[in-house]
Amino acid sequence: MTELDSSVLNLITETATNLPADVRRAISRATTKERAGTQSMQALHIINKNIDMARDNVGPICQDTGMPTFLVHTPVGVNQLIVKQAIKDAVAEATRRGKLRPNSVDSIDGKNSGLNLGPGTPVIHFEQWEHDEIEILLILKGGGCENKNIQYSLPAELQQLGRADRSLEGVYKCIMHAIWQAQGQGCSQGFLGVCIGGDRTSGYSGAKEQLFRDVEDVNPIPELAELESRVMQSADSLGIGTMGFGGAVTLLGCKIGALNRLPASFFVSVAYNCWAFRRLGVRIDPQTGAIKRWLFRDENPARMAAESGIPTTGREIELNTPVTEEQVRSLKVGDMVVISGPMYTGRDALHKYLTTHDSPVDLNGAALHHGGPVMLKDEDGNWCVKAAGPTTSIREEPYQADILRKFGIRIVIGKGGMGKKTLDGLVETGAVYLNAIGGAAQFYAEAITDVTGVDFLEEFGIPEAMWHLMADKFVAVVTMDSRGNSLHADVEAESLRHLGELAVAK
Ligand code: SF4
Repeated sequence: MTELDSSVLNLITETATNLPADVRRAISRATTKERAGTQSMQALHIINKNIDMARDNVGPICQDTGMPTFLVHTPVGVNQLIVKQAIKDAVAEATRRGKLRPNSVDSIDGKNSGLNLGPGTPVIHFEQWEHDEIEILLILKGGGCENKNIQYSLPAELQQLGRADRSLEGVYKCIMHAIWQAQGQGCSQGFLGVCIGGDRTSGYSGAKEQLFRDVEDVNPIPELAELESRVMQSADSLGIGTMGFGGAVTLLGCKIGALNRLPASFFVSVAYNCWAFRRLGVRIDPQTGAIKRWLFRDENPARMAAESGIPTTGREIELNTPVTEEQVRSLKVGDMVVISGPMYTGRDALHKYLTTHDSPVDLNGAALHHGGPVMLKDEDGNWCVKAAGPTTSIREEPYQADILRKFGIRIVIGKGGMGKKTLDGLVETGAVYLNAIGGAAQFYAEAITDVTGVDFLEEFGIPEAMWHLMADKFVAVVTMDSRGNSLHADVEAESLRHLGELAVAK
């Protein structure tokens, strides 16, 4: 199988950069359904443009290229050890080429392994089958949506929905609750894989396997087909919308499977996938290792973005960093902001560090971007940004307000919103939270014109390092302001009310 390594590398590259055909169609349908002039529609325009840019640039659709998870079917007689090694070699090479972000971190000492290899990385599942081809399926599911996976043990009491019994009605309630709890943190609009039954481990695994179904297929089990359709009809009434901005479309797909269970257990496991639903497959010749055909892929996809590009309102507010307290206090929820000037990245490791140490740079008036970019060195040895979207901000909730007070940061950029403690901190210190469009990594990479420095690269690794970036027209929406308003809190409360209406409607 001399061509196997390059076939797997090709699969990884395409999966990271070229969104599947069925996913593209689902996003296009959502774009026609969303109301014009809303923040959700604005986000969809950026998402569509980003999908095109990723294909054009052969760059990661989202900077979080997730946990590479392979499902491999082999004919009897194929040496699985050779396939496994080819996958590992291809994952390392794709990381060197900037198609995958180095995402594998030692859970004890926090060190990044560098090439996405290590205990449990990548994830590879093997199964034998009767066909005479090798099938390799790959999903790249990022941490933001992975963190919104959820498992229920029935019977259970669910907020606003009441008791979920051990029945399909109970399963329906769990799924609706799962969509609600994700809000925008998993980069809605989402796709769901659901498993009814199994044990705690096989349930989650079965839920993820459902994500390998075609978005447009029909479940062969009539009861589950009906349930999938019911979830799809109900989900949009929650009004969570794209990125949790509030809007007409919340869910793009729901696939449900079932496994037998122990009499004492009844689990409902939900795998939530963001709009950047990256999964493709290939059928491979077991003699040569060459790709015979692709699964889910459109080789020459139509453009997603409208010719006219991203619509503007003329009311966008231009800011040059560092900014003053007065500038920030004039911003309010709903404002579209365009930032130029220095910007610093910081995620979990940096936030924890800054609570007990000084900052290596002056952060007074600065913009702090919750982002872990994909970075590569060019031929002159200079760092350049290959993908640069925001990460889920809520993880920094325990630290953010203290860091605002300590360093005078005025702008926090992330996605999914933050909680009460941070909101109080924004009010007290005169700062603002901007929601960038999660997953729009190519769109935002284009808005970074220079990398002027980096701190903690050795200690924290590429995603967690503090990158010093120069932004040029970086677009984001004010979703939490210094007057105590939070779009996230509003959408969460409103969607919770709609969740309760679903229970009443039954
Ligand atoms: S689109 Fe959002 S949830 Fe999905 S991988 Fe990217 S950052 Fe994570």
